Amino acid sequence: MTIKPLIILPDPLLRQVSVPIETVNAELLKLADDMLETMYDAPGIGLAAIQIGVPKRMLVIDVSREDEEKNPQVFINPEIVKSSDDLSLYEEGCLSIPDYYAEVERPATIAVKYVGRDGKEHMVEADGLLATCLQHEMDHLNGVLFIDHISRLKREMVIKKFTKLAKGKAV
Ligand SMILES: [Zn+2]
Repeated sequence: MTIKPLIILPDPLLRQVSVPIETVNAELLKLADDMLETMYDAPGIGLAAIQIGVPKRMLVIDVSREDEEKNPQVFINPEIVKSSDDLSLYEEGCLSIPDYYAEVERPATIAVKYVGRDGKEHMVEADGLLATCLQHEMDHLNGVLFIDHISRLKREMVIKKFTKLAKGKAV
């Protein structure tokens, strides 16, 4: 397993729409392992492939608490098939937007269809943190970031700050 460099705002890759995965093979599973390694190292609770520069529809999540056993989950070609009308509010952050947090409202419960590491189709009903995390990561597959769900003013401030930071690094 290898820890990969993270793609950081305002890298245009983060706005790219990821492509569906056709086959679950050893190469893809290695990518999933690298993503998990990178996520645990950060540390974070979710990571989409595009965040390490690979525009494929795959994400990894582990929302287990510190006092629980690790629970790495891999979602390939995930799709929301049902979402609740009731919403829940969570303070979100993103490994591609380090040290910035904001409250985002999303459907509280969702049903997601996906392909697992076994190459088979699965369905999961998620609520709580898992529901929020899945929606945040699935947004990444469509080039959407959590700051797209906050006010325009706040979003522009964040983008400006990270653009400045990136320029500083390039000099
Ligand atoms: Zn993110």
